[in-house]
Amino acid sequence: FAIDNVDIRGVTVKAFRNIPPTVPGLMAAGWARHGDGKLEYIAYEGESYSYADYTRSVNRMAHAMRDTLGLGQGDRIAIAMRNYPELLKLVLAVSSIGGVVVFVNAWWTTEELEYALRDSAAKVVFADGPRMDRLKPLEQPLDLTLIGVRDGEGQTAHDYATLLEGAASDQAPDVSINTDDDFAVMYSSGTTGHPKGVVQTHRGAVNAVFSWLMQSVIAPLIDPPAADAPEPPRPSALVVTPLFHVTATHPLFLLSLPAGAKITLMHKWDAEEAVRLIRDNKITRFLGVPTQSAELMEAAKQMGEPLSSMDYLGAGGAKRPAAQVAQLAEAFPNAGIATGWGMTETNALGIGMIGDDYKARPESAGKLHPPVQELRMLDDHGNDVPNGTIGEITVKGPHIMRCYLNKPEATAETVVDGWLRTGDLGVLDDEGYVTILDRKKNIIIRGGENIACLDVEGALHRHPDVLEAAAFSVPDERLGEIVGAAVQLRDGTSLTQQDMAAFLDGHLAKFKIPVHLWVQHDVLTRGTTDKIDRRAIRTACLDNQEAQ
Ligand code: AMP
Repeated sequence: FAIDNVDIRGVTVKAFRNIPPTVPGLMAAGWARHGDGKLEYIAYEGESYSYADYTRSVNRMAHAMRDTLGLGQGDRIAIAMRNYPELLKLVLAVSSIGGVVVFVNAWWTTEELEYALRDSAAKVVFADGPRMDRLKPLEQPLDLTLIGVRDGEGQTAHDYATLLEGAASDQAPDVSINTDDDFAVMYSSGTTGHPKGVVQTHRGAVNAVFSWLMQSVIAPLIDPPAADAPEPPRPSALVVTPLFHVTATHPLFLLSLPAGAKITLMHKWDAEEAVRLIRDNKITRFLGVPTQSAELMEAAKQMGEPLSSMDYLGAGGAKRPAAQVAQLAEAFPNAGIATGWGMTETNALGIGMIGDDYKARPESAGKLHPPVQELRMLDDHGNDVPNGTIGEITVKGPHIMRCYLNKPEATAETVVDGWLRTGDLGVLDDEGYVTILDRKKNIIIRGGENIACLDVEGALHRHPDVLEAAAFSVPDERLGEIVGAAVQLRDGTSLTQQDMAAFLDGHLAKFKIPVHLWVQHDVLTRGTTDKIDRRAIRTACLDNQEAQ
């Protein structure tokens, strides 16, 4: 794992030498190590795929995309579904033909899907049954080709099966892909404004994967078994996070390819089902948002299951309370507890705990994962702050996004001379631990799901009686944060939270709809630049608990 200095978009960064340069290269590495062995790769509700099955059907789909659908290099192809094995195959098939995967959030409404499809200019969308229903109204206006993958009952859809049957070959298509080509667009609220398409390159993704692999974080490299030997114990991860999230795609799915780790997919999160899967399949690794590990622990306790196969219990996407770390360590004494910090913009790589870090600094997010990235803590003027002083986490490396799609100004504000301003505030101590303390950006993190305040406010403003709106987080024991909002109404009008929720249904995905609403007829508090002052409004609302 030697390191080189490389030039990326005019900035010199460190990057791994001699690793597969692209995402299809990760698959080829897995195939070379495990392809002809008998290792099971993916398990999903009674279905099971070996590396060999898997790679062949990825290759078939890649040929079908080229020959039948006429897709090719640089084309953006969207995937709209919950966790199914085909989602993973499609990601690899799209990247094998040099296409760009557009991941869309499975909870989005038709309006939100329209925004992302217009923004990404994706013309072909692979979808499961519920997503297909929401996409149908967009088929003609956006001139989309919609391809059903699984129907509403979870059965393989005719479209997908027909495409595979018509494929010319099960060998990898011969396409030359550059390491700095785009791999994917993932939507995230970023540091400001509405959801933005984060453009990730192949180089970004593979450097993130090898940074984790090098330290055996989440999945160590394993050797394939000899032909007549029993399958060795090996890392096996439960994937509970939706795969349109970087926390699931990168450190679990992409990492599993070269590592030879088995992955067991959950269609949607259910703590008791997770306990059964871990127990029955002797799963070793669990990674989700902090809420999920807390729920897993509760369910395991109630079901009397010690889950002793687990050796890694990771969480990212939101702050994990130190008290939870101690409870988890007690409940799962064989497992290392790990909290991590990362972003869609960093291909999920960032800061994380390894080994006994959770005992030394349970309140922290761990240390910067070496060896290719660099970290600075900056003040508001872009100056470095000394260790122990609060600053903005700012990172540089080959894993940083190429840009926000179609948003050059937002990109220029966020990435300065190759350094990504993350909008997260924390403290770096002399031993290298980073503790996250606050956020500069206007987002609400509900159980790990980022929601832009502007997105919610934009929808609230559509109500004819609303003059002004402010969205903010409200603390919640289970989800960490939930959505709250204050609205200023026109004189003579009134509105309840239920009225507003009914109005927003269809405009805004359910997880973004405010569950606490404060209504008033006075003007909302403004800051010095005359913009609404969300912090002050939030404090006033939370002090006066009479939300509707
Ligand atoms: P996303 O791009 O959806 O993965 O969200 C990234 C954001 O989630 C970060 O910029 C943080 O604001 C937040 N986040 C991720 N991990 C942590 C953590 N360990 N502690 C606190 N916030 C986190």
